[in-house]
Amino acid sequence: MSLQGDYDSQNIFAKIIRGEAPCYKVYEDDDVLAFLDLFPQSYGHTLVIPKKAAARNLLEIDADSLCQMTLAVQKVTRALVEELQPAGVQVAQFNGAPAGQTVFHIHMHIIPRHEGESLGIHASQKADPVELERLQARLVRRLNSLTA
Ligand code: AMP
Repeated sequence: MSLQGDYDSQNIFAKIIRGEAPCYKVYEDDDVLAFLDLFPQSYGHTLVIPKKAAARNLLEIDADSLCQMTLAVQKVTRALVEELQPAGVQVAQFNGAPAGQTVFHIHMHIIPRHEGESLGIHASQKADPVELERLQARLVRRLNSLTA
């Protein structure tokens, strides 16, 4: 899908927002939802999406949703760093299939990075659900302690 096109309300992230598909949620407020990536590029790979914007990409999102999403990215990144102590964190966002986008509801990737790891943009292996549940519990606890 190119940069041009219509928003498809049946995309998987829209279904997650509506509660029609499951996710490993780590943070939610009125404007945003953050959940674990099912095909993580590293342990802790988290996605942040706006809930109110029917936007496929950065070119379409309204200013308020963009601000709220960015603030949530900072909040979740702080929690990830405190909890997992990575050496670095990559924050990424792709627009259009040629740029690597596969889900056409705007989202930001937060990817803990460690020395010596190779950098990719997609992983082919699905995470172990038990591991995702454990990680979800750690991050929820950490986010609650930061926002309390
Ligand atoms: P992008 O390539 O930027 O469009 O990223 C989409 C990301 O969503 C990829 O990293 C996928 O692994 C991830 N993904 C796809 N479906 C799900 C899902 N149901 N729950 C969590 N992550 C997903």
